[in-house]
Amino acid sequence: MISAERILQRCDALARHSELPGGLTRVFLSPENRAANEAVLGWMREAGMAARLDAIGNVVGRYEGERPGLPCLMLGSHLDTVRDAGRYDGMLGVISAIECVDALNAQKKRLPFAIEVVGFGDEEGVRFGTTMLGSRAVAGTLDPSVLETRDSSGTTIAQALRAFGLAPEKLPEVRKEKRDVLAYAELHIEQGPVLEAEGLPVGVVTAINGFSRLRVTLSGVAGHAGTVPMHLRHDALVAAAECIGAVEKNARSSSELVATVGRIEASPGAINVIPGKVVFTVDVRAPRDALRLSCVERVKRDIESIAGKREIQFEIEDLQQLGVAPCADWLMAQLDRAVSAEGIKVRRLPSGAGHDGMALRSLADIAMLFVRCKGGISHNPAESITAEDAGAGARVLFRFMEKFHGLSA
Ligand SMILES: [Zn+2]
Repeated sequence: MISAERILQRCDALARHSELPGGLTRVFLSPENRAANEAVLGWMREAGMAARLDAIGNVVGRYEGERPGLPCLMLGSHLDTVRDAGRYDGMLGVISAIECVDALNAQKKRLPFAIEVVGFGDEEGVRFGTTMLGSRAVAGTLDPSVLETRDSSGTTIAQALRAFGLAPEKLPEVRKEKRDVLAYAELHIEQGPVLEAEGLPVGVVTAINGFSRLRVTLSGVAGHAGTVPMHLRHDALVAAAECIGAVEKNARSSSELVATVGRIEASPGAINVIPGKVVFTVDVRAPRDALRLSCVERVKRDIESIAGKREIQFEIEDLQQLGVAPCADWLMAQLDRAVSAEGIKVRRLPSGAGHDGMALRSLADIAMLFVRCKGGISHNPAESITAEDAGAGARVLFRFMEKFHGLSA
């Protein structure tokens, strides 16, 4: 039996593993990450799975099919959080998947395929600034040189893995073979307001929007805030303000585009000094790659022209980009049937947020089920779902899993 109450209790239990007193922050390879992993490993074993940590720090539980060693349907989500996070983003998908396997195990039922539940160790990228380390390692697309990336204290990913008791040289063993994974399906809170507005507990995701991330450095001339006349200044922060306006203007050119400057640092950062240097980030997303790439090009041209006009040096780094990740038609059709069987109207919608499926798509076809969240709020401690919706989501996932047939043909 699926227990919505237990799902929510377990989300609460994981939320207590936090470095932020009174809130939730749990980053990759932290002591809190270790404690959360221990809890999840225990729940997986209780649900009849063989459970372990892989070499990149993903929690992996396996429930064998009718005979050992069959290819698997992979279910999962991530166990790391953003800073001052909500307690459902990521965790709900892992805990719901465990709940589904537990229900299967309670019936002593085996399927014609294995189920693997994965709690990815790093999706958000808070600690090292590189997202989806866990799922990229499983897909075999994580370049080992990424392990030399440092956190703000100078620790590399490889060092942090070792300190966690893992062996970074075993990274290649994390990789799954295509023949061993039939599909990947993830349950996740919507993180947006569409399902709530339409009065629906769940929705079937059509595609995960692509994104581009830039880091822009503007170098002007620092100077005395009292003595340098306005017309002789090369103020990097005023130039940045104009650039941020240009980012917004370009994103507003299409209803499908969104763009955000989420981080900015001005140096030297004193009340009486003209800012000489500014570094800011740009994040652009869209459901169509061509649209996103043309927006990024326009943003870059605008930054160049603003810097030129103000006689300021600029540098634009392409940090990361990922193309649109469409969900597979044959999996969406199976999810649709599971939603209908629960008596819920089928609603399909795209995902504006990035998810591990983007990285896993090179390994297997992907599907996602969204669960309604209150006010569409996420990446925020006010993130909230109801027990009814948690139950509906898990029951749909259970039906999908139980009836899953693994061939697209
Ligand atoms: Zn998430």
